[in-house]
Parts: sequence; structure tokens; C-alpha cells
Amino acid sequence: MTNDVTSQDYWTEIGELARSITAEARANDYDLHDSCHETIDGHQWVIYTAYNFDVAKHSPNDGAWTDLYGGGDVPENFDAVRAFCAMQQDVMEHSDFGKCLVCDEPVDDCTCEEEDS
Ligand SMILES: [Zn+2]
Repeated sequence: MTNDVTSQDYWTEIGELARSITAEARANDYDLHDSCHETIDGHQWVIYTAYNFDVAKHSPNDGAWTDLYGGGDVPENFDAVRAFCAMQQDVMEHSDFGKCLVCDEPVDDCTCEEEDS
């Protein structure tokens, strides 16, 4: 397995995830944050240990795991937990997350969907 995720690769993927998660949640009427959780949980950068360090290297939120585990014991699968928390935070902080791709408004405020139907 190659292990060469660049910073550019990382942020391209985060942006695509932000948009695809938003679109999927909207199309299926899923909760945005539940969708984000599930998608990141199944992402190869979380599943495969080889990628976990790349995530920690590129993410400014590599300390986000302390929000879940702060003060407690470090989880067994620490590298994966840290990657998961970092990616989830990066996606949720991305400017496209939760925004309509057409009108750029938060999806809750946008009326594009109604025009389609
Ligand atoms: Zn819209």
C-alpha cells in the first residue's frame, strides 16, 4: 500500500467529502452530522493504519480526539481514532459542508430543492 498522501490530496479529499456528505444527507433526508460520522468512519484513511499518520500530519485538528477522550485512557486503536476525529472535524469546518452547491446557502435555508420538485 502506498503511503504518500500529500497536503493537497488531503484537502481535495476533505472538500469532496464535505460536498458529497452534504448532498447525500440532503437527498436522503439524513442528519448531516450522522452522515458525516458514518462516512468518515468507513473512510480508507481511517480504516487503514498506513494512512492514519498522514491524516494526523496534514490535519490542523489532529488534537480533536481529546474532545472525545480527553482526560481518559488513550484508546487501543489510537491512530484510527485520532484520524477519525481529525477528518470529521476538518470536513465539518470545510466551507462547503452543509451548504447548497447551487445557491451556497446553508441547506436548511435554501429553497433550491423545492424548485426541483
Ligand atoms: Zn440552494
